[in-house]
Amino acid sequence: MAQRLIVIGGDAAGMAAASQARRRRGRDDLEIVAFERGHFTSYSACGIPYWISGVVEERDALIARAPQTFRDEYDIDVRLRTEVTGIDLDRHEVVARDLDRGGEVRERFDTLVYAAGAVPVRPAWADGDVTGVFGMQTLDDGAALRDWLDAEPKPCRAVVVGGGYIGVEMAESLVKRGLSVTLVEQAEQPMSTVDPDMARLATDAMREVGIDIRTGVEVTGLDERDGRVSAVVTADGTLPADVVVLGLGVRPNAALAEAAGLPLGPTGGIRVDRRMRVAGVPDVWAAGDCVETLHLVSGLPVHVPLGTHANKQGRVAGINIGGGYATFPGVIGTAVTKVCDLEVGRTGLRERDAAASGFEFVSVIAESTNRAGYYPGARPMTIKLIAERPTGRLLGAQIVGRAEAAKRIDALAVALWNGMTVDEMTALDLGYAPPYAPVWDPVLIAARKAVDALAR
Ligand SMILES: Cc1cc2nc3c(=O)[nH]c(=O)nc-3n(C[C@H](O)[C@H](O)[C@H](O)COP(=O)(O)OP(=O)(O)OC[C@H]3O[C@@H](n4cnc5c(N)ncnc54)[C@H](O)[C@@H]3O)c2cc1C
Repeated sequence: MAQRLIVIGGDAAGMAAASQARRRRGRDDLEIVAFERGHFTSYSACGIPYWISGVVEERDALIARAPQTFRDEYDIDVRLRTEVTGIDLDRHEVVARDLDRGGEVRERFDTLVYAAGAVPVRPAWADGDVTGVFGMQTLDDGAALRDWLDAEPKPCRAVVVGGGYIGVEMAESLVKRGLSVTLVEQAEQPMSTVDPDMARLATDAMREVGIDIRTGVEVTGLDERDGRVSAVVTADGTLPADVVVLGLGVRPNAALAEAAGLPLGPTGGIRVDRRMRVAGVPDVWAAGDCVETLHLVSGLPVHVPLGTHANKQGRVAGINIGGGYATFPGVIGTAVTKVCDLEVGRTGLRERDAAASGFEFVSVIAESTNRAGYYPGARPMTIKLIAERPTGRLLGAQIVGRAEAAKRIDALAVALWNGMTVDEMTALDLGYAPPYAPVWDPVLIAARKAVDALAR
């Protein structure tokens, strides 16, 4: 008799696991059922801001594989609008509710993949019945916001609460749609994924495109008119709003796992081993935004909810379930984002992380250009490097610039991943031609500056 794999969550991690398992085990050997409470499978949540702004015209362009593709080509029984509401580990069963027709079923599993993603942080003040307030995590969330923006009366004023990368990308997309946008951030700078000196450059660029940024401001409530949001109330006054987008970060969607007795780590994510098996629990695997992972530089458990990790982790889980061998070693915190034409890249530790981990370090900032200075289109770029003292090992890097400057973070990520010192980096054989770099690549200039700083 075929074994039975049940997958909870039909996006990046869940469907990567399901399809990898299917590649290795045929239908007669493994029956696969995937429960997804939303309307879509395998979509790019990362593309939502660009669909909201109109840069991506069609919603379906964000869908890599539709449910029918999984059914027809992968023999995976995808059940949409079906929410798993309970996991019984002793009986090897899940309880699932049909969200449209009502009714519950119990389904047996031999193997379970928990890939329920993350949930946007939603403060108590956003929890009432006021309409026009949106968290942003799934394509259904994006579709709900699009509907609100398209419906009459057309919203003109948006407030984005929280300046993480999702808040910043959403602010840009709302500006592009012609709304007047205010971004409220409780900290002194938005974009706390980079150090404040680098975040300041991004903040300046956001102001230049017309985003009204209020920092050091706490939101305390909402005002409404006829049940629709009409303003955001802050300690500093009231900001009129026809639509509010929450960009306060996300937390692992692990409540169901916790209720079932699966182990959570200090970040609130599910604890897994390097093959993505839930720590100490036979037959149960987890992947994506719901798990915590290891930071390879600090050595600490971290929750880094990114699509790049979700896809890799799901793939690893699926290969192992399929009888192969694969591992996910951890992360170094590489990420890129943009706000209008300004790009931000980061990898490794920020100064505050390096200090909290007990490293002695130097940090340097190097100003350069993305192309030879004389070549048309040369734009300034700023690289910050953080290196351990006295070893010179690279601990972290950040880039702010334009015209694909941010993707230079990949060279720095490879150096960091491989434990290179800044001295070794000064000799890296990087590509050079005037349309792509100055003769001294910005990465090499920054590495040389770090070597000088270490020598002082
Ligand atoms: C606006 C935005 C922009 C982003 N940009 C980037 C980017 O540029 N780069 C990057 O690397 N990452 C980005 N991300 C993050 C990336 O989208 C996520 O890390 C990735 O989607 C995580 O995949 P996942 O499968 O773990 O979780 P999800 O994509 O959240 O999928 C989990 C699925 O599980 C379903 N589910 C949850 N609970 C249940 C249940 N009980 N029963 C049934 N189904 C359930 C949900 O409906 C959801 O579809 C972005 C995210 C957002 C929201």
